[in-house]
Amino acid sequence: MTLIDGKKISQSVKDDLKMRCDELKSKGVVPGLAVILVGNDPASSTYVSMKEKACGKVGIFSDMYHLEEQTTEQELLELIEKLNKDEKIHGILVQLPLPKHIDTNRVLDTINPAKDVDGFHAINVGNLSQNKDSFVACTPLGIMKLLDENNINVTGLNACVIGASNIVGKPMINLLLNARATVTCTHSKTKDLSFHTKNADLIVVGVGKPNLLKADMVKDGAIVIDVGINRLDDGRLVGDVDFENVAPKCSLITPVPGGVGPMTIAMLLSNTIKSALKATK
Ligand code: NAD
Repeated sequence: MTLIDGKKISQSVKDDLKMRCDELKSKGVVPGLAVILVGNDPASSTYVSMKEKACGKVGIFSDMYHLEEQTTEQELLELIEKLNKDEKIHGILVQLPLPKHIDTNRVLDTINPAKDVDGFHAINVGNLSQNKDSFVACTPLGIMKLLDENNINVTGLNACVIGASNIVGKPMINLLLNARATVTCTHSKTKDLSFHTKNADLIVVGVGKPNLLKADMVKDGAIVIDVGINRLDDGRLVGDVDFENVAPKCSLITPVPGGVGPMTIAMLLSNTIKSALKATK
């Protein structure tokens, strides 16, 4: 069994991005990312400050907007419209989840698709499903990079994606299909999860349930990618995989923490620099 080292791979991605950022700056372009946080959800605040810090390290200008919980949808849409026109801003990220009184889809679809570095706009989602150039959601994009860096060619593999959210599962399915894997999509209504996982060469699990994927659900030699982030009562951070028992059966597996998580932020930075590069052409 080999551990996939997300920390190391994300660091080398960030080193490369810093060089590309310096190159852009030498041509007078400073890549800029606007991050909008509405309300005071502690997990969201942590993610936003991690993103801000990471921007600083590679040299991306980050513009933080922390709006009150009571912010109206109209106020948020107006801020996005303003940022859509701002030439200093190449990427716009609205931290999810939004308060319940705000229509998330309407907000995401107001972002200029050319600045949609999270890849959640319907146009980017459509382009991904048609295998056209698009901004792709950062977590699945980071997973493809992890596989690539470990010399895994997914073409022809049986891949099982557990969880079908717009953020993780659905873009993951499209990326794997585009790379010509044979993809099974499973979710909360799937009748017999292990029937699907047992046949998989590659399993990507992003649900948010500790120990969901157990050893008897995994075939020998499988590759397992754990997207889940769960905080246990004793404070430990774990994924969705029963790591201790599953890992010995795998050829490759990601740990939590230190697997997929660090790649998500690296891909956000990468998408922002991609957008800045496009804006200069
Ligand atoms: P979500 O709640 O939006 O989606 C969960 C999905 O899991 C749904 O499609 C649901 O149908 C499915 N599901 C629920 N129970 C299931 C079961 N028993 N069997 C199979 N499928 C089941 O969650 P999300 O936003 O996609 O996040 C999923 C997990 O990934 C969470 O733990 C989240 O914290 C983590 N996450 C990690 C990163 C990262 O960077 N590492 C990024 C995003 C999300």
